[in-house]
Amino acid sequence: MLQQTTVKAVGPYFEKFLLRWPTVTALGSASLDDVLRMWAGLGYYSRARNLHACAVAVMRGHAGRFPDTEQGLLALPGVGPYTAAAIAAIAFDRRTMPVDGNIERVVSRLFAVEESLPQAKPRIKQFAETLLGPSRAGDSAQALMDLGATICTPKKPACSLCPLNDNCAALARGDQETFPRKAAKKTGELRRGAAFVVTRGRELLLRTRPAKGLLGGMTEVPTSDWLAGQNDKAALRQAPAIKGASKWHRKVGVVTHVFTHFPLELAVYTASVPARTRAPDGMRWVAIGDVKDEALPNLMRKVVAHGME
Ligand code: SF4
Repeated sequence: MLQQTTVKAVGPYFEKFLLRWPTVTALGSASLDDVLRMWAGLGYYSRARNLHACAVAVMRGHAGRFPDTEQGLLALPGVGPYTAAAIAAIAFDRRTMPVDGNIERVVSRLFAVEESLPQAKPRIKQFAETLLGPSRAGDSAQALMDLGATICTPKKPACSLCPLNDNCAALARGDQETFPRKAAKKTGELRRGAAFVVTRGRELLLRTRPAKGLLGGMTEVPTSDWLAGQNDKAALRQAPAIKGASKWHRKVGVVTHVFTHFPLELAVYTASVPARTRAPDGMRWVAIGDVKDEALPNLMRKVVAHGME
């Protein structure tokens, strides 16, 4: 949950999750729809799908107990090198060093690693492992993480308080803040599209996105394709074919959202249709009061709010 998200935002979700699914077996027995619904609003939905797939794998393949080695953990869905090393070190006291962003910063400064991220990752991990004591690997890792979070901060590190300041190459050179070196970031091209907020009395037209891909399995109002350079007319031509919704009203302004790989701008069109109008194939009417229980990602919450304003 904490990947890309702050502790403050995650806290209430974490508590709700543990109340509803207190064990890995309980989570593995839940439906993916329920998990996505509970996740709605937290973003990066592949985490929810992976969490569920991982719980199913632990329940079915490991009798409900997590494997206790780094290799065993790495084989689970959604568990990459960092998570595998973190669980192995912290939960099972294996001698390995999970390298998060904080440790990356501390280590790249201590050893003045000139190579840029992400290429420098293997080298940083090697250096980080030299900092492990003979035992208590989890404590070593968490101590370094805390050092990075509180003292070796991205800006203005408090080097005079740092217990490693006698051995820090970057401090000796006076260029601590320039580490870790980073390759220039590529931001994706702006994509544009249209979203269609259709109401039938006190109901809203919704559909479910395909299971695979961006926001997979989440709920949305119908939208056009999201394409770079797409103009309003081309987007409007993809409006859902629904009887009675021949006249679309364009709301002033656009809804913007930034995904990891591209920013998005959606024009919002609204229409209201007569009672008993059928939903097009693959779509459904949902009472407006129940929309909050749907697995609506933040982007769609913004679209619905803008459309119903
Ligand atoms: S001396 Fe300064 S730059 Fe070096 S590890 Fe400590 S806080 Fe970071």
